[in-house]
Amino acid sequence: MSYTTDLGIYINGSWRRGEGRDVHEVVNPATGDVLAELPLATAADLDEALDAAERGFSHWRTVDVNARAATLHKVADLIRERAEAVAVLLTTEQGKPLAEARTEVASCAATFDYFAEEAKRSYGRVLVRPTGQRSLVLKQPVGPVAAFSPWNFPVNLMVKKMAAALSAGCSIIAKPPEETPASTSAIMQCVIDGGVPGNVAQLIYGVPDMVSRHLIGSAIIRKISFTGSVPVGKHLLKLAADGVKRTTMELGGHAPVLIFDDCNLDNAIKLASTTKFRNAGQVCISPTRFYVQEGIYDRFVAGFAQATKAIQVGNGLDATTVMGPLANDRRPPAIEKLVADATAKGARLLTGGERGDCGNFYLPTVLADVPMSADIMEDEPFGPVALMRPFKTFDEAIEQANRLPFGLAAYAFTENARQANLVADALETGMVGLNSFAISYVDAPFGGIKESGFGSEAGAEGLDAYYVTKAVHQY
Ligand code: NAD
Repeated sequence: MSYTTDLGIYINGSWRRGEGRDVHEVVNPATGDVLAELPLATAADLDEALDAAERGFSHWRTVDVNARAATLHKVADLIRERAEAVAVLLTTEQGKPLAEARTEVASCAATFDYFAEEAKRSYGRVLVRPTGQRSLVLKQPVGPVAAFSPWNFPVNLMVKKMAAALSAGCSIIAKPPEETPASTSAIMQCVIDGGVPGNVAQLIYGVPDMVSRHLIGSAIIRKISFTGSVPVGKHLLKLAADGVKRTTMELGGHAPVLIFDDCNLDNAIKLASTTKFRNAGQVCISPTRFYVQEGIYDRFVAGFAQATKAIQVGNGLDATTVMGPLANDRRPPAIEKLVADATAKGARLLTGGERGDCGNFYLPTVLADVPMSADIMEDEPFGPVALMRPFKTFDEAIEQANRLPFGLAAYAFTENARQANLVADALETGMVGLNSFAISYVDAPFGGIKESGFGSEAGAEGLDAYYVTKAVHQY
C-alpha cells in the first residue's frame, strides 16, 4: 500500500481536509522526502469537537457495557484485517522496521479486545449497615477525555488511551503526533467503521501548545492523558490544575540496568543488545544506563559492543533492517551533542557515534566508562545509545540506579533469587524487569513514579483511570 496523501482531522462524524487550514509537512525519516501535507485544527474546529464530545458522552455513558464491548471487538477485528496496510504506513512515516510495526499494530487490536472485556468487570461494591442502610460505591465514567500521545509508538499509545476511555463510557478527543498521521488515521477509520459514534471518538492534529491549552482550558474536558517528555508533562499538569482535572502522565525515563556478576552473561548480552536498539532506542523504557559488576564488566562491554556492530541499519521497509532511522530531525542533533559531551569528558566510544548518510539515521552507539559528569548520565538520550559503567557493591548499584529524578523502568540480571527480590524492592521505579526486558503487557499496569509521572496505562489500573467513584448511601 502506498502512503496516503489524503489526510484530515475527524470531528463530529466527518473527516475535514485542507479547506484553508494551516498544514504540517509529513516527512519520511529514512529519506527526508515530504510524504504529505496534514491539515491542522483551528480554534473553531476544537470548539466543534468539544461540543460534539459533550453530546457524545451523554449518549455513550448510557450504552450498556456489553454493547460497548461488542463495538470495540469489531474495531479490533477491523484492525487485524487491515494490519499489514497500517504497518506499512507506520514504517513509512515513523521509520521503525516493518516487523516492529506489525507487532505494534497487532497490540492495538489486543488492547481493544482487552478493555472491551475488562470494562465488564468494573463492579463497584455494597456496604451493608446494621441499621438497614446500604452504601453503594459506584464507578462512573469520568467524562470527555483529551488524549495527547507521541510519535515513538504512534498507534499503540493512542489506542491505550482510546480503548480504555471508550470501554469505560467516556468520549475522547485524541491528538496523536503530527509526524505520523497516516497510521493513526487508519486506526481511527477502524474505530469509525467498527461503529463508535462520530461524536464519541474524534481525532485532531494541530499545533500542540494551541490544542492542549484550548482543550484543557475547556470546562467540557474532565480528564487529560499525556505520554511524552517530562517538561511538557509538567506544563500540562499546570494547565490541568486550573480546572482541577484528573490526569494520567506517562513521561520520560532513563532506565538503569544492573548486571550482577552471577547473571547468565550470554543471555544478558543477547537480550540487552537487541532490546536497546528496538525502535532506534526511542522507547521510554529503553535500557540505557548499564551498571555492570566489576568481575564481568570487560566481558559484558566487549560482548555488547560486538553484537551492536552487527546490527543492520536501514530503511524499515527492507526485510533485512534491524534498526531504522530516528523518527524526526530533532533527535540526531540532540544525540550528537550528548555523545560529543560524553566523549570530551572521557567516555570511550566503542562503536557508532555518527549519523548515517541520509534521512535521520544515527548509528547504534556504545559508550564505556562514561563519567558521572557527562550530561548523558542525566539527560535521557531517547535514541540508540548505550552507556556502560562498572560497580562494586549491591548498595552502590542501587544508589546509582535511583539517583535521577526519573522513575519509570529499571532492570536487573542476577541468578540469585534473594538478590533479585532485594533489588526489586529497592529500585525506585514503577516497573522492574528481572532477567528480562519484557515489561509491557496489555493486562499489567504500565507507568512511572517520581518525575516519570503517575497513573497507569494498561491493566485494570489503566481502565480505572477513566472512572470516578461515587458513594451513594441509601436508607
Ligand atoms: P517534546 O518535549 O517537544 O514533545 C514530546 C511530545 O509532546 C510530542 O509528542 C509532542 O507533540 C508533544 N507536545 C509538545 N508540546 C506539547 C504541548 N504544549 N501540548 C501537548 N503536547 C505537546 O519533545 P520531542 O522532540 O517530540 O521528543 C523528545 C523527548 O520527548 C524525548 O527526549 C523523550 O524524553 C520524550 N518522549 C517521551 C515519550 C514517552 O514514551 N514517554 C515519547 C516521545 C517523546
